[in-house]
Amino acid sequence: MPFDLVVRNCRLENRDGLADIAVSSGLIARVGDRVDGECRAELDAGGRLVSSAFVQPHIHLDKVGTLPLLGQNRSGTLSEAIGILHVTKRSAAPEQVAARAAVVIRQAIVSGTTRIRSHVDVDTIGGLVPLRGVVQAARQYADLCEIQTVVFPQEGIIRDPGTAELMDAAMREGGDVVGGMPHWEPDEQAAREHIGICLRLAQRYDADVDMHIDETDDPGSRTLAMLIAATASHGWQGRVTAGHCCAMAAWEDDYAAQVLADAAAAGLRFVTNPATNLLLQGRADREPKRRGLPRIKQMLAAGLPVACGQDCVHDGFYPFGTADQLQVALIFCHAAQLSVPSEIDAALSAIRHTAAHVMGVRGYGLEPGCTADLVVLDADNMHEALRLQAVRRWVIRRGSVVASTHTTTTIHRIHRETSRDHLGNEIDPRITG
Ligand SMILES: [Zn+2]
Repeated sequence: MPFDLVVRNCRLENRDGLADIAVSSGLIARVGDRVDGECRAELDAGGRLVSSAFVQPHIHLDKVGTLPLLGQNRSGTLSEAIGILHVTKRSAAPEQVAARAAVVIRQAIVSGTTRIRSHVDVDTIGGLVPLRGVVQAARQYADLCEIQTVVFPQEGIIRDPGTAELMDAAMREGGDVVGGMPHWEPDEQAAREHIGICLRLAQRYDADVDMHIDETDDPGSRTLAMLIAATASHGWQGRVTAGHCCAMAAWEDDYAAQVLADAAAAGLRFVTNPATNLLLQGRADREPKRRGLPRIKQMLAAGLPVACGQDCVHDGFYPFGTADQLQVALIFCHAAQLSVPSEIDAALSAIRHTAAHVMGVRGYGLEPGCTADLVVLDADNMHEALRLQAVRRWVIRRGSVVASTHTTTTIHRIHRETSRDHLGNEIDPRITG
């Protein structure tokens, strides 16, 4: 059987020299110095770095691109962003949601991401419209990118009666993961009930759970401990992810250490969203201002899986972003002060292996048998790819090239006299590369 694709002259992490990667039926069939045998297509990576494609574990595709439709978020806070979003949530049709999501899905694909987990608002304001819009876009791009949806009660469950029933309907319609936002409820009792409703819903549909947890500066916000307790009492260990977790930074050290030990015992996974939370959190702080991240170094030292997401693109929460995970990893390094090689490796895992682990992706990696989702980068190694924000030369999904990017930049010399070499020969004043 001929290979479907052989990518030649690949530079790989932790391997000397160049290698070929052969693909059959969408899977990596062989990785070796020189792969012989017939192939239907060949791609010469030309010595460039080849990585597993990036993974986006936390984004809100139903909200992306809404900024031009909203009033300004004058306070810059999470609560004002949630409030001003009601306008679009009330009026949008699924087709409009799908069209906005499609723009960002394409941006994700060209920047090397082939797997996305999107939270989607489910509440009494928008009903199931946001979910239907995102599912429509996901189907449209299913050949290029795998998209999971998280049924997300952005307005709360107890404080927005009717939401629990809508979440059930959303799961019936094909939602993949049960979301949550317990700290948004009016008190601890309601937060606990909120978490219980979500865990029972997850059990009913045999689904994973991925909640927004303690996305606040309030050190009294303790919904992570509630989620851990509910994970254990429902027997859902290893199936629960906690996103954001900003309040953790403000907790007492002893309390934080205990909660993180309990999280490890319950097999919890974490997603931090440094771009958005750097912008939203600490708004009411006088100097020094908090950074909006959980205790990243402590979590990494404890061996907890910490992935890294974009969260928001061009909406009321965050006016920037292009769903580029290499950019997100760079912001993560700055926000969490990750600067030595092992820490930079952790940041790069946060958009690759750890993010795939959060999403429950099977067969992620560059070994034979893994899905052939690859990104070819204009760099020699991943640290350089991160520093340079390297061009994603080709993106490969299940063994097919799905995106390619060419860039040409020319420097135009102004002073002709500087354009001579050491022998006095005139040099072409254009420098192209
Ligand atoms: Zn979020």
